Amino acid sequence: MNERSTANSASSGPPTQEVDCVIVGGGAAGLSAAVNLGRMRRRVMLVDSRDRFIWRHVINNYLGFPEGISATELRRRGWHQAARYGVRLVLGQVAEAAREGSGFRVSVGRLPEGGAWAGHPEPAVPRDAEMAAMFEELPDGAPTVVRARTILIATGVMGHFPDFPGRDECVGVSLFWCIHCDGYESIDKAVAVVGPDEEAAETALDMLDFTSRVALVAGRSEGFYLPASRLADLAANGIEAHPAAVAEYRNTGGQMQALVLADSAGTVVPAEHVYSIQRSAAMTELARQLGVGLDQVGQIVVNAAQETNVPGVYAAGDVTSPHNHQISAAVHEGNEAACAINYALYRPVQKDPRDA
Ligand SMILES: Cc1cc2nc3c(=O)[nH]c(=O)nc-3n(C[C@H](O)[C@H](O)[C@H](O)COP(=O)(O)OP(=O)(O)OC[C@H]3O[C@@H](n4cnc5c(N)ncnc54)[C@H](O)[C@@H]3O)c2cc1C
Repeated sequence: MNERSTANSASSGPPTQEVDCVIVGGGAAGLSAAVNLGRMRRRVMLVDSRDRFIWRHVINNYLGFPEGISATELRRRGWHQAARYGVRLVLGQVAEAAREGSGFRVSVGRLPEGGAWAGHPEPAVPRDAEMAAMFEELPDGAPTVVRARTILIATGVMGHFPDFPGRDECVGVSLFWCIHCDGYESIDKAVAVVGPDEEAAETALDMLDFTSRVALVAGRSEGFYLPASRLADLAANGIEAHPAAVAEYRNTGGQMQALVLADSAGTVVPAEHVYSIQRSAAMTELARQLGVGLDQVGQIVVNAAQETNVPGVYAAGDVTSPHNHQISAAVHEGNEAACAINYALYRPVQKDPRDA
């Protein structure tokens, strides 16, 4: 086994594998870091728990894909690119990480039956065949222990979508939440924005740059958390505001058609596109274990080099605080993290003496 390959240390108990970096999460941020660290000839293990892709969205705003590219296809390309540079792709879940000496002890578990997302409101779908071919599956039993000199947390966020029949076919096709990602696709469509607060009101008003047919629905029986002056702004701009919950998200074959409201009239709001304004939750369990600092909304605080407050722990992508949640930002942060990690791993003689 050469110096650069993943090595087993001689110790009692199960063999401990050693790598320069464990990347937790195989989305745009993790894969971008993996490609760049692989090209710097680092020993990298990328662990991803996402054994399925259920959203059908196409990314239209990422440079270099004038016809757009499906999120699934972008990931597949990332797997092949990372594998080309020797990155070890592992299907599993990093459940625990702790400081051990100058590095970290990372426990990687096999995915539970039904996938890592078993029990989550998202339904189970069959495991992706190409992923199964490219990713190592871990053995049953005790978690695999990896000793890592650095860790990159690229675990993303858990999106919250309303739960209704046909929802999964609609996500990314006619059910969205991000006007920057998908507003262009809503040009001249009948749009309903669902949310009770200022963020929803702003989204409805911003949507007028794309279409004149915009309605705002509170999505809760208690109505809006908006002052009368804001409701007046909406009315003055031709946006009907409905202070009601949604009784039915009417859709067929991935296409939203209308929202039926839970008001006394059973109001039907035409809606070819629905923007659901619900906060997402950053996946920060590992960060908490490692003592990594979070911001007020629970996302990881990093500096421009993607360093956290814990030496040796880096974070990139949606899980971090500073950026809007976009593919381009995740790719950028993954690359920044790779550069910083690589520099941290240099031997002293390779570093600028002024950094000593
Ligand atoms: C429906 C939809 C439409 C979108 N449209 C656009 C668009 O048009 N344009 C755009 O720029 N962006 C869009 N986005 C946002 C974009 O997808 C994200 O910004 C981007 O995927 C963030 O990448 P990431 O690597 O940070 O996180 P993710 O892509 O979420 O990847 C994180 C990965 O980490 C894994 N993971 C989490 N915890 C663990 C663990 N403990 N162990 C192992 N693995 C773990 C997860 O399973 C997941 O695979 C869209 C997102 C969605 C959901």
